[in-house]
Amino acid sequence: MILVGPPGAGKGTQAARLVDKYRILHISSGDMLRAAVKEGTALGIEADLFMKAGKLVPDEVVIGMILERIAKPDCANGFMLDGFPRTRPQAEALDAAMLRAGFKIDNVVLIEVPDALLEERACGRRTDPETGTIYHLKYNPPPVEVASRLVHRKDDTVEAVTTRVQKYHSETAPIVPFYEAHGILKRVDGVGDPDVITQRITKVLGA
Ligand code: AMP
Repeated sequence: MILVGPPGAGKGTQAARLVDKYRILHISSGDMLRAAVKEGTALGIEADLFMKAGKLVPDEVVIGMILERIAKPDCANGFMLDGFPRTRPQAEALDAAMLRAGFKIDNVVLIEVPDALLEERACGRRTDPETGTIYHLKYNPPPVEVASRLVHRKDDTVEAVTTRVQKYHSETAPIVPFYEAHGILKRVDGVGDPDVITQRITKVLGA
């Protein structure tokens, strides 16, 4: 399955809960790119400039990275893509690769959140590098014992989030009609308590 939504929609938070529930692998293109940046690989060095500015990393880089990942044996029992595809060419490349591999995309969940809420959600976000838990300074405050090790993403600034939201509308929104035409798109209201949103998602996914 695929999780789609603007920056700050709660994809990462929901993905962590859903992969637990459905026992499938979580593949986040953003996490993979951040790991490559940290390791200083050639891919990471190239991606870093785009990411810092809130721009999309070029299709050929991300497509290669994800197709290579989902071809690994641990993906054979199902996986959840979070943050990929983010452009129409990415969606088409994924479709072709899935077809070649004899796999099928069952569900695409679109988490919908109005633009007005995204900046505050993204800028207040902090991640625990040890557990991967995502907190929000106001809406889901971290416990004091982890506060000193939390990470504020370089692209969770007002400037970068503004660009990311614009890119979402111009580049990513066009994948919605693509999956709608395939009959696999499920829309979920992403405003509210994270537990309630998890319930909404599991409801649209069925048993
Ligand atoms: P995320 O963690 O999903 O918010 O992604 C963080 C950043 O990584 C994005 O703002 C992009 O710069 C880059 N990125 C992640 N996934 C993709 C993708 N599918 N296509 C292009 N860039 C991506």
